Amino acid sequence: MSRIHYTKPSVGELESRYVLDAVQHGWGERCYEYITRFEKSFAEHLGVPYAIATSSCTGALHMGMAALGVGPGDEVILANTNWIASAAPIDYLGATPVFVDVLADSWCLDPEQVERAITPRTKAIVAVHLYGNLCDMDALLAIGARHGIAVIEDAAEAIGSQWRGKAAGSLGAFGAFSFHGTKTMTTGEGGIFVTSDKALYERVLTLSNHGRVSGSKRQFWPDFIGFKYKMSNLQAAIGCAQIERVEELIARKRAIFARYADGLLGVPGVSLNPQPAHSRNGYWMPTVVFDAETGITRETLIEAFQAANIDARVFFWPLSSLPMFEGVSVDTPMAFSLSGRAINLPSYHDMTDADQQRVIDVIRDVSRQGSPA
Ligand SMILES: *Cc1c(COP(=O)(O)O)cnc(C)c1O
Repeated sequence: MSRIHYTKPSVGELESRYVLDAVQHGWGERCYEYITRFEKSFAEHLGVPYAIATSSCTGALHMGMAALGVGPGDEVILANTNWIASAAPIDYLGATPVFVDVLADSWCLDPEQVERAITPRTKAIVAVHLYGNLCDMDALLAIGARHGIAVIEDAAEAIGSQWRGKAAGSLGAFGAFSFHGTKTMTTGEGGIFVTSDKALYERVLTLSNHGRVSGSKRQFWPDFIGFKYKMSNLQAAIGCAQIERVEELIARKRAIFARYADGLLGVPGVSLNPQPAHSRNGYWMPTVVFDAETGITRETLIEAFQAANIDARVFFWPLSSLPMFEGVSVDTPMAFSLSGRAINLPSYHDMTDADQQRVIDVIRDVSRQGSPA
């Protein structure tokens, strides 16, 4: 049986054409052409006025948080269920991540827990739209407004997701996306910072330029220490092709999810990524969670998928369980419980119906056999 990978980008003729053009002609006075075009197209797709392409989502988050003034002594609230990239920039800036629990259905921030975790030192809330699922943005934005705290959206996994008709990443103080090769759209490596706040945009633009204020007449004159997290023109050429194809890429993710949902109908004690009525899920990563009562665990699932030569992946470990956060006290039973009974399913663009059926069969078999005694 051939191996089924879990993610693999869809990169084809259009991407090749743009990159070849960038390689041959994108130098000298044209060295920023694809970058500018990519930023403009991405901002348009999202419905925001400002975008700055970066070398990674981590870099976009780092600069955005720096521009918001996050620094030593500050606290930043985020869910304990997360990838390290959402927390690392908080640490880079000398601030402290504060981990709170997630909701059982969305696997995203529990707004009540967020409000309870607020202290006079809280500087920001990072809303991560996990696996394409949306955070409750109404509740989080209201909490932010009530306490004068910025809500940041890490939308790396949420291209194509919408909250009440607005794109994920366009609702908070700023949004950050990733174009790593595992994401719905890719530039190889890469990311982007987006915002509707002109002043914040200008601060990040200056930061992204090694602290050189744009429009300054003096050459080689930084006013303060900034960052260097730029996207290259070559990567942006791939990005220009991918953003032209973005509706196709999102539609494919949604079709793959729909097929899984259909194939898993009636399997007892199983839930998949939710899509509340007023939202749209971009379904970056179709994920199966077994109810605790089924007794089916991550280990059982990993073993079954390995035996079938399918690359399924574990649900994120609670960040507080990682070595660098040892000793940090948290009260997040849901984050711990979820990661013990969930698995990410393969969902790459070119996977076939037969591939998906193999995945569905594994889950059905595991469910039928139940937990090992
Ligand atoms: C992939 C990912 C990132 C990191 O993106 P990079 O481009 O690799 O820095 C950050 N946050 C989330 C939620 C992600 O899924």
